Amino acid sequence: MKVGVLGGGQLGRMLALAGYPLGLRFRFLDPAPESPVEELADLVVGRFDDLDALARFPAGLDVITYEFENVPVEAARHLARQVPVYPPIAALEVSQDRLAEKTLFTRLGIPPAPFVPVDTLDELRTSVVRLGFPAVLKTRRLGYDGKGQFLLRGDADVSLAWQALGGVPLVLEGFVRFERELSQIAVRGRTGEVRFYPLVENHHQGGILRRSIAPAAGVTEAAANQAAEAIRKVMDHLDYVGVLTIEFFQTAEGLVANEMAPRVHNSGHWTIEGARTSQFENHLRAVLGLPLGSTESVGHCVMVNLIGEAPTTALVLAIPGAHMHLYGKKPRPGRKIGHVTLWADTPEEASARQALMAGMESGPASPGA
Ligand code: AMP
Repeated sequence: MKVGVLGGGQLGRMLALAGYPLGLRFRFLDPAPESPVEELADLVVGRFDDLDALARFPAGLDVITYEFENVPVEAARHLARQVPVYPPIAALEVSQDRLAEKTLFTRLGIPPAPFVPVDTLDELRTSVVRLGFPAVLKTRRLGYDGKGQFLLRGDADVSLAWQALGGVPLVLEGFVRFERELSQIAVRGRTGEVRFYPLVENHHQGGILRRSIAPAAGVTEAAANQAAEAIRKVMDHLDYVGVLTIEFFQTAEGLVANEMAPRVHNSGHWTIEGARTSQFENHLRAVLGLPLGSTESVGHCVMVNLIGEAPTTALVLAIPGAHMHLYGKKPRPGRKIGHVTLWADTPEEASARQALMAGMESGPASPGA
């Protein structure tokens, strides 16, 4: 079986690494000739709207999936006429537009942060009056890792935010005073069966995920049920196939949905060592119509992103339970170039092992992941 993947970043690389034991082969489509999948699979280099690349890509593929949610919907539709594409294109469309995403959450009874679409400076002025300060202005499209966002603390920030982001469709969100950030990852097979990974606690800095703790400690049954019900509703509504992630803010009143990603997710990297079946293998099983694997966690993990520069491998591996994953990317400030999963029998031990990584996690943070 040969799987086509739109996007050739680290998520694609880890999909391929999970697929090889199953005897799968891969072809990637990515605009960059130097990408994390370059040395391990067949790579078509071309933009996602390059008709020549789109013509060469599907030959001999059994299924096409994506590891990047900003693939143009038209390109995915074009390919779907020749080869099945999973997750469904409707999921791609919704997750490309924050307004569509929040509207879907609301329709399905999943509370998002209060939000108002904003297209003009006047609308921004009236929206901040409605939502109050602080508020977060975000571009509806193409925002990731905290890019395309502006935190408004008071009136003086309104015109600054407009100067920074105005001119494209925007959405203003009320600021959520959250206790912590959690993500729910689940997988849905072609038969409609859904399996849930345990909730994960995520720590961001400058909008970039730095660390995930899995499973999250102290999750109440109510929170676990709310997250599982929310993701099941979205999956059933979209007749979803594959791995889906929803990021939540945990508040005193319950979970507030922030955003969804129709793909394997950075907060699920721990599943490679910390779950019976990794998110990557389960995504492949789902899109190929194979039986799903157990999503049960095994032990406790802290996953640490390596940002900017990689630490010395020997120093990392000297920490008991440390597993290093490098993506084959050139070091650059602010860029995710790898991750380390610290595995242990108990949460305390996992956290103590993560403490041994102090100072190794990142170079200077700046844009350009
Ligand atoms: P996003 O790109 O929407 O995932 O936002 C990146 C990060 O900014 C989130 O993980 C939060 O830490 C923070 N953030 C985004 N939106 C809000 C909000 N409405 N209220 C509070 N914090 C937010």
